[in-house]
Amino acid sequence: MSTTLVAPLSGWCAALDESPDPVFRERILGDGISIDPTSGEVFSPCDARVHSVTASAHALTLSTEDGAEVLIHIGIDTVQLNGDGFEARVKAGDVVKTGDLLLRFDLERLARAAPSLRSPVLLLKRPGLRCRRLAPEGPITAGDALLRIEHDPQAHAREHKTPAGQHRAQAEHPAPAREHTPPGDDSARPENAPASAVLERRLVLGLDHGIHARPAALLAAAIEALDVDLEFVAGHGRSANARSPLALMALGAAHRDTLTLRASGADAEAALSAVVPLLEPLDAASDSAVADNSQAPSCTANGPGSATTEKQAPAPGAAIPGQIAVGGLAMGVALQLQASPLQAALPDEAQVLPKAEEQQRFETALDTVAAYLDTLAQGSAGLGAEIARAHLAILNDVELAAATRRGIDTGLSAAAAWTAAVAEMSAALQALKDKRLAERADDLRDVSARMLSALCGQAPTTVAQLPDHTILLADNLLPSQLLELNGDGPAGICLAGGGSTSHVAILAASRGIPMLVAAGPEVLGIDDGAELLLDAQFGALHLRPSPPAAADFGRRIAALAGRDRAARAHARDPCVTTDGTRIHIYANLGAREEAPGALDAGAEGCGLLRTEFLFMHGRAAPDVAAQRSAYQAIADALESRPLTIRTLDAGSDKPLAYVDHPPEENPALGLRGIRLSMAQPALFERQLLALLQVRSAAPLKIMLPMVSSLEELEGVRSMLDELAQAHALPTNIELGVMLETPAAALTVDVLAEQAAFFSIGTNDLTQYTLAADRTEPRLAASLDALHPAVLRLIQTASRAAGARGRPLSVCGHAAGDPLAAPILLGLGLRELSMAPAAIAGQKALLRQLSIEACERLAAAALASPSADGVRELAREFLTRLPREEAQRREQDRREDRA
Ligand code: PEP
Ligand code: MG
Repeated sequence: MSTTLVAPLSGWCAALDESPDPVFRERILGDGISIDPTSGEVFSPCDARVHSVTASAHALTLSTEDGAEVLIHIGIDTVQLNGDGFEARVKAGDVVKTGDLLLRFDLERLARAAPSLRSPVLLLKRPGLRCRRLAPEGPITAGDALLRIEHDPQAHAREHKTPAGQHRAQAEHPAPAREHTPPGDDSARPENAPASAVLERRLVLGLDHGIHARPAALLAAAIEALDVDLEFVAGHGRSANARSPLALMALGAAHRDTLTLRASGADAEAALSAVVPLLEPLDAASDSAVADNSQAPSCTANGPGSATTEKQAPAPGAAIPGQIAVGGLAMGVALQLQASPLQAALPDEAQVLPKAEEQQRFETALDTVAAYLDTLAQGSAGLGAEIARAHLAILNDVELAAATRRGIDTGLSAAAAWTAAVAEMSAALQALKDKRLAERADDLRDVSARMLSALCGQAPTTVAQLPDHTILLADNLLPSQLLELNGDGPAGICLAGGGSTSHVAILAASRGIPMLVAAGPEVLGIDDGAELLLDAQFGALHLRPSPPAAADFGRRIAALAGRDRAARAHARDPCVTTDGTRIHIYANLGAREEAPGALDAGAEGCGLLRTEFLFMHGRAAPDVAAQRSAYQAIADALESRPLTIRTLDAGSDKPLAYVDHPPEENPALGLRGIRLSMAQPALFERQLLALLQVRSAAPLKIMLPMVSSLEELEGVRSMLDELAQAHALPTNIELGVMLETPAAALTVDVLAEQAAFFSIGTNDLTQYTLAADRTEPRLAASLDALHPAVLRLIQTASRAAGARGRPLSVCGHAAGDPLAAPILLGLGLRELSMAPAAIAGQKALLRQLSIEACERLAAAALASPSADGVRELAREFLTRLPREEAQRREQDRREDRA
């Protein structure tokens, strides 16, 4: 074999010895050459398949047909730029030809920001291959001959000289058993490590930029001479052989990701000791809530099949904060949901079967999973059955299957082709970041994991019958995993990761299972069987509570159950505070099907209809007739109750496939909401025309998203008037504004000239006030609508709306938050619109409050220094509430008697 690599870049060619980075200089990753670039375009040096592109697009790896792997790494330490200045033009799985454009970078920007632009082009270490330099030192043009990859005739001999070399060769071409340690020969092993012992270490990755080229090289080098099989498993279930820097890089492990390290072999313990510090783990060092972290982490050896995770157990009585995904309380015992076969690693690519067999493997797996999902759908009811059916639809998606079949045709294994097809579709869905579509991405992951299990020959497993009162703990949970749980499911769920808007959270809500998410890796250190209190009212998981704390919690559970029953019984009654103030409670809806349930839950109408659902799924915008009938169906389902329809809130994180939307540097600050609608007048006019035709006994209200100026409102008003005139339609539509930008919240008096009503979108108002991207998981904890700055804006808006006599509501997530609602009442709000599931409880809560008490709470909240401080005040307020209520009732009784 002999493959010529041409220069992927134009620039100055030099030996690796001059690289400023020792990892490249010392050829830890492999041999090659470096190019100091003079232009910002990188072309493929050969025909190849793109193996991986780093998330920050500063490096990529290519696999050649001959099995060689080539790394192109632009500059030194450029991972720190987090992708700034880089633009990948290919993705993993793409097949490229010599000279194809791979990525672009901003040469000037890099020259200013990176320590060096010297860009190594390497043949990654692989037994039996070596590279020869073809280009002399000096200027080189992209496309000039650079390196030749050829067989290394001496490699075989070298690889068998040392035990370390022998082991490396095996690791790169994994064999089912280690040859160097005959079965039964325990002589080289530590006493506490039986033949099949697996040592596990779970940690949170501290490396600022994740496992990129340098740490990957150092990790592989650290175990080079050790007798160990070491596997890194990332939270998403993918795994990598730690001897392969390429696999480690492709793992895509980022800062703060949870990693599981599994080591076996005579040097397993030494290997973990060597690699763990290189990962700069965060959990032991940085988590002050872990009381007993003085106990240095140690490895545990386990017998066959019983590998357990090394635990850094939180102290008894410790409270682990988490985000509330489903409200409620649960008391029970911990059960860790172990990494399931769903997280199976991909079969070894080296074992790709002939194309026809891989195609057959794919078809068989499709049939297996379809049969399994069908059974699940038959055996479930309600939302569970719906989800299983939705999964079946994803499985049967023709494009997904076609993309997989195409991938197999290019020589990929069925598993790799399926993974690439799913990755592409998932990336497209994730990019939209719309809640409803993100849920679909979750489902796609779920189906994908099932398929991979089947492709690996594993039958879908059912989680065993849960013991009563189980609090399920996991890194993440897939909807189908929850569906599989027998009986009523767990008493509560607490996830280290996850999100409150995921499908599994919605499923848990439909089953009434309290759930906390994003509680962090401490959750994974809790022992099975530990007693837990899951408080999804105040957002905390309490470990091994004292008997009085448990008794107190038991009383809260009993009281909550009673309150829930009472709340449901009175859900349809009006919501009136103790001083007789009427509070109107509406539902946020996204589809017609949700309307009947919302009315049952006590909604007095719809305060926010998100119309995106009509626009997001198709390949073209819905026409006027389709829109009119969808809106009319919802108006009818609400049986003449008020309906507020928000015009299309697309753009930014919810792009429309059929709208030409140029990429933006800051999409959340870009062409979204009303800005996009005004930029697409034909699209917008169709929506306005459909809205003008909706007939309802209650006045129809139209609400505009992302408004920041009066001109926008005037523009829409004149469009409505012109359309009404042209089509001879009545114009008795009320036009309102969502207060989502600080600009709108601060100019309610000005907007009131044209706006008939206002509704505060606390989700966006919080994002824009705190300058914190609402789609960025790392900012989720600080993105709190109870931040005093947001509350002050709400107060300003409320006063201005009151002064102009304009109704004001809140339709963001805060409206349904029990800690926020009393404050909102105290700030003058009398209308709240929320998810249907929150309505009965919020009504029951608000009925216990007096406006005066709420105003006192709001005044204290406005003066509080932080969102946490505000939450503490609200908690204390709600804790005092039953006592004050009892006193008030007693007082009333006395007065009645007198
Ligand atoms: C909001 O921003 O609070 C809101 C209700 O709109 P959305 O969440 O749909 O952006
Ligand atoms: Mg919004």
